[in-house]
Amino acid sequence: MEIVPTIHMIEGISAHCYLIDGHDLILIDTGMPRKTKKILSYITEVLHKKPTDLKTILLTHCDIDHIGNAWELRRITGATIAAHPLDAEIIAGKKPRQTSRKTMQILFKLLSAILQVKPFTVDEILDDGHTIAGLTVLHLPGHTPGSIAFYDPKQKVLFIGDTLGCKDGIIRGPPQSVTWDMNHAFVSLEKLLPLDYTVMLSGHGEPITTHASRKVSEFITKNRTGKTTKSS
Ligand SMILES: [Zn+2]
Repeated sequence: MEIVPTIHMIEGISAHCYLIDGHDLILIDTGMPRKTKKILSYITEVLHKKPTDLKTILLTHCDIDHIGNAWELRRITGATIAAHPLDAEIIAGKKPRQTSRKTMQILFKLLSAILQVKPFTVDEILDDGHTIAGLTVLHLPGHTPGSIAFYDPKQKVLFIGDTLGCKDGIIRGPPQSVTWDMNHAFVSLEKLLPLDYTVMLSGHGEPITTHASRKVSEFITKNRTGKTTKSS
């Protein structure tokens, strides 16, 4: 589904992933494992491009429902994979994925084993302020230590990963049970305040397609005063 010109959301992959159909193809996140075919068929059947036109895979963070097809897509298309260094260590299996609830940590491990997600090394490291393919990288630690967002100042789109979500028109913080540090997550949100964007695209829930930066700023302000901290 094309959300705005050249930016597509691939549904049914859980979590959502986004394809930017510009000069080259760029994929933001890759969904749950075993969905490689679905992503490739979107490239060939909807965009009428070749799998090898996919040049870059950007990972907003290390979770299995975001990195699930990255390795296989790289093998098939030759695309390079980029992530923040702190989550790159988790993706490479050098550090564990930590959550506020130990049970969720165990669940993540089990899920990775069942779905046979093997650790892999990313090709490129993305730090705060880095620009890649016209997107500015924002380091927003909280959901995971190396969670990042990608800001497209030309199209006024923010790809937020799991740092924020939207359900039934209501903006929510990251899901608490699978979040590394909720306080850190809300402090990180302050970085979004100066940005101007119309559209916000997250890993789960609905896209926000109008006045997104105003809605997010209102959410940040409300939560800063401690009135309506929401998480899902
Ligand atoms: Zn996540």
